[in-house]
Amino acid sequence: MSVSFTDSPARANIIELKNIGQSYDGGQTWIIKGLNMLIEDKPDQGQFVVLLGMSGSGKSTLLRYIAGLQQPTEGEVLIKGQPVTDKQRVSMVFQQYSSMPWMTVLDNVALALEYQGVDKKERYARAMELIELVGLAGHEKKYAQYPALSGGQLQRVAIARSIIANPEIILMDEPFGALDIKTRIQMQELLVDLWHRFSSTIIFVTHDISEAVYLADDIYIMKSPPSLIIEHIDIDLPLRRDYSTKRDKHFTELVHHVEDTMIRIAEEK
Ligand code: ADP
Ligand code: MG
Repeated sequence: MSVSFTDSPARANIIELKNIGQSYDGGQTWIIKGLNMLIEDKPDQGQFVVLLGMSGSGKSTLLRYIAGLQQPTEGEVLIKGQPVTDKQRVSMVFQQYSSMPWMTVLDNVALALEYQGVDKKERYARAMELIELVGLAGHEKKYAQYPALSGGQLQRVAIARSIIANPEIILMDEPFGALDIKTRIQMQELLVDLWHRFSSTIIFVTHDISEAVYLADDIYIMKSPPSLIIEHIDIDLPLRRDYSTKRDKHFTELVHHVEDTMIRIAEEK
């Protein structure tokens, strides 16, 4: 009898969208049809996945499925091989600030743990750790609203809330669209940092191709309705990137390649 130490059940993908269809009019027209996306689980490394596509191609809809906020008309959405449940709640970071403006920064970040039944003392201790990590120490007693906090700071609150709720998966829907360039670069750095620290799988939607190439391991491009994922582009830049990456010739080539691909997809009917 041979004994194998390497036989282990195949690891489930962290996110699977299987044969998804979305219709809002009882099947007369389809916004999404036959869409499949498998995102492998890389528990020690995490990954940064960027979704690109024209407006209306269904990017936000995909994030809502993964967050458990919406069920597709057809098909299946699995997280680690299981249908999405309330327990593994994944929260989303939007362009519009998604925190509760009538609550302090600390209460906003601690709230996710309250839902999970963590006791008060631990809730606040863990929330403070996260607040420090995202660079908001000293602001925890402020209300999570503009102008008490700047746009960048409010996005830091949203990111902290998302990570404390579930560091494995972070969903971001055009999160930095409203930020000035300096703040945007700082937020990109923060996000890359948090990705490596928590080995998170980040699904990030943006219209900014240069931002997409800079942040992504993998880019997926959606075609216009009826949508499906039509192109996967592997971003073969070093895992650790910094500002000089953007000045690299290969970076520019990738940006051009992604842009050309998007134009080609937009022109195909
Ligand atoms: P994206 O984020 O890529 O811009 P969305 O996921 O927001 O695209 O939307 C995809 C398409 O689905 C759009 O054409 C939008 O109008 C349509 N849509 C989204 N929600 C609804 C709804 N509740 N009823 C009807 N159509 C919807
Ligand atoms: Mg959208």
